[in-house]
Amino acid sequence: MNDLLERRPLTVVSNRLPISMAKDPEKGWEVSPSPGGLVTALDPVLKRQRGKWIGWIGTEADDEVQDVLARASEQYPYDLISVPLSEEDEQLYYRGYSNETVWPLFHDLIGYCKFERDTWERYKAINKRFAEYTARNIDPESIVWLHDYQLLAAGSYLREAGVSNPLLFFLHIPFPSPDLMRRLPQEEELIRSLISYDLLGFQTRRDRDNFVHCVCEVFPDIGIREREEYTTLFIGDRRVNAGNWPISIDYTEFYAHTKSKEVADAAWLFHEHFPNQRIILGIDRLDYTKGIPERFQAFELFLEKYPEMHGKVILYQVLVPSRTHVPDYQNLKHLIESEVGRINGKFSQAQWVPIHYAYRSLGRMDLLAHYRAAEVALVTPLRDGMNLVAKEYCTSCVDNRGVLILSKFAGAHDELGEHSLSVNPFDTERTADAIYQAITMPEEERVRRISALREQVKNNDVHRWVERILLASELMTD
Ligand code: UDP
Repeated sequence: MNDLLERRPLTVVSNRLPISMAKDPEKGWEVSPSPGGLVTALDPVLKRQRGKWIGWIGTEADDEVQDVLARASEQYPYDLISVPLSEEDEQLYYRGYSNETVWPLFHDLIGYCKFERDTWERYKAINKRFAEYTARNIDPESIVWLHDYQLLAAGSYLREAGVSNPLLFFLHIPFPSPDLMRRLPQEEELIRSLISYDLLGFQTRRDRDNFVHCVCEVFPDIGIREREEYTTLFIGDRRVNAGNWPISIDYTEFYAHTKSKEVADAAWLFHEHFPNQRIILGIDRLDYTKGIPERFQAFELFLEKYPEMHGKVILYQVLVPSRTHVPDYQNLKHLIESEVGRINGKFSQAQWVPIHYAYRSLGRMDLLAHYRAAEVALVTPLRDGMNLVAKEYCTSCVDNRGVLILSKFAGAHDELGEHSLSVNPFDTERTADAIYQAITMPEEERVRRISALREQVKNNDVHRWVERILLASELMTD
């Protein structure tokens, strides 16, 4: 890490704090670190650089919760500052505007969007609250780094609160084209807020270009300078930089864990449930962006077109429960389950069921064992900011046998498209053929492709992601 960065304290602001709280009936409240790529990436930097993390604890923060949090913070290597949200705040700001307006719009799925005045008003109010907590708690020297689509409106409020620190923003989900962004009644307010940052990071070049085009729609007279790593926008006396830095995983840790005997044994046991069958794996959060019904259609067509594969191949689909209270997600779950039943009803034989479906979250060891046992991963989102499952699968193919089938609409496609089997998830016929190609791929080609994919993940892991963004911020704000 560059010396310049060592000097500066860092404050991270995100919707959720990097810890979770759960109430045990006997022991009371318990605090545990929330696992996840972002925490893994930022933890070492925050520990080294007098860091702070500002966010919501994920539950209504009464006095008891605040007390537990304060005690937990004392033991933590950096400061944790909680922004309180009531249940109604969560309903309107988080479940409402964030997840029912921004989420579908930014994933190009306008049909799922709800445009409601009260959710927007509350979104602004909560973004303002995040900005005020941040303004009160930062050191004059610190770099302030906000994350993701729940905090798009916070930039303006930070500047209004007098914050003149370097402001960074990273968007973990895609950024929509101007055509889509124009439909959002609050387009102008959000773009104005986003240009309050000094540096914005996006997952892909497409997202970065979309952002630049959207800014140009709102401010037609700006100056633009293109560099390979980032674009600089000159807006009045402001200079705003936008780059694309794809997030990743902790390659070394992932690889070492998957190679362990514990995971090898678990993978062998998992495969033993399906003797003499090749496993195609799907692992996704239950979300309409992940393209699960479309994937099942492609698998169904594969079974129709290639009857010689019956009895030899299964699709093992893990669906992690998500946003379970939202009607669109409940409907999707019903649709997926009825499709599993329909397809299995159509093809099953006495000794073979083509789709196996698990509706739960896997622990780390099981997850790695599933990756390691699968000959093919089907990663076919309709649109996805990045898709870490794709990167984790490539890393976990320690036996060099896996094939990745990857949607063109996953952010990960920019890095992994060349050596995966690239598909358009809306094209059922070609996706079915890609499944056949993956299953019948010669050994030598599999090894060549998966080795190149693993190398790609290795060379751009999550630690490098943080480093590149913080270095870019130093160059631009010094
Ligand atoms: N994951 C998990 N348990 C599971 C399934 C997935 O911990 O049973 C993790 C997985 O390791 C990955 C993340 O969930 O890191 C999913 O990230 P991704 O970018 O693929 O999709 P997202 O859910 O963020 O849209």
